[in-house]
Amino acid sequence: GLLCGIPTNKAMTTTEQTPTKVIDHKPTNTGAAFGSEVSAHMLMGVYRDGQWQEQAIVPFGPLMLSPTNLALHYGQSIFEGMKAFRMKDGNISVFRIDKHHERLNKTLERMSMPQMPFSYFDQAIRELVAVDADYVPDLNEGSLYIRPFVFATGEGFRVRVSDTYQFVIFTGPVGDYYQKPVRVKVETEFIRAAEGGPGFAKCAGNYAAAFYPTQKANREGFDNLLWTDSRQHEFIEESGTMNAMFVIDEVLITPSLTGTILDGITRDSLIRLARDMGVKVQQRKISYKELIAGAEQGLLQEAFGVGTAAVVSPIELIQVHGQDYPLPPYSDNSLWFRLKQRLTQIRTGYEADMYGWNT
Ligand code: PMP
Repeated sequence: GLLCGIPTNKAMTTTEQTPTKVIDHKPTNTGAAFGSEVSAHMLMGVYRDGQWQEQAIVPFGPLMLSPTNLALHYGQSIFEGMKAFRMKDGNISVFRIDKHHERLNKTLERMSMPQMPFSYFDQAIRELVAVDADYVPDLNEGSLYIRPFVFATGEGFRVRVSDTYQFVIFTGPVGDYYQKPVRVKVETEFIRAAEGGPGFAKCAGNYAAAFYPTQKANREGFDNLLWTDSRQHEFIEESGTMNAMFVIDEVLITPSLTGTILDGITRDSLIRLARDMGVKVQQRKISYKELIAGAEQGLLQEAFGVGTAAVVSPIELIQVHGQDYPLPPYSDNSLWFRLKQRLTQIRTGYEADMYGWNT
């Protein structure tokens, strides 16, 4: 009966899902949910015969996969996330292509996937953004999110490393929104990553594994988690899809890159900006005990997450083992606010790009 009940291909596709909306107009800051709208085109490239082959820009549309597709079963699937901005002179800048390419290759290597030459990645980004340039929101109205990803296209159900891969990039306009301060819980039971694991890699599985503990925290009323290390469950790692930063007694402190956290490009950029603004910056281990001591002595001034999507997300409350530690109120004088402002000014051309971050 079941077999007869599937007369067409259509019945077998997952049309229950809310489809991604391909918009055909220049975006305005309408407040569409982040990630719900995409531009008209996508770029495709393939890896076969030991090489990255030709690229093509095609209309955004579905991909056809075999049920034995290796990525679906064994998880060779990785991505990047970056942004293009409208500048004050009307030009478009893409932020730190080289650094995103470097991280993409580190991720690919860790997942036994083929690395990609810089020129292959750079050309793909430039051409796709040029084709859908109209989708880059107006100055200070948002940005064009760029999502490059690579997944295995080998087939068969034997566990193995694929020898063919698909590279895809699509883009989608996203709004600039006021970031309401968030509540986070220090997670001391579950872990995101351990030494020797793929914590530093932007592989799909890292995100899937984070969902369960994160949903649990959401149900308890938190916006996100602050992950801790796998051995002592004590040292802060990162938060959701953001790196963590703290200001204690005027010093900006962020966990060092030990291999278990993502080497965030926003993190790297804000460290540079803070140092150049004369702020003392430390990249080191920081335990939740130090955060508690700082809060109790009134020295914990700021806590925030940093990442491409929201740029900076200030934290208003940190909970550790059921105990709440509120942060003092933020103002335009807060370090996080000043850092975000400077980064925006560089990306939009109000300030000279002395770091060479814009393409
Ligand atoms: N950590 C994780 C786990 C992330 O997914 C992201 C987003 N890429 C970040 C940190 C922040 O990195 P970036 O500043 O490069 O967006």
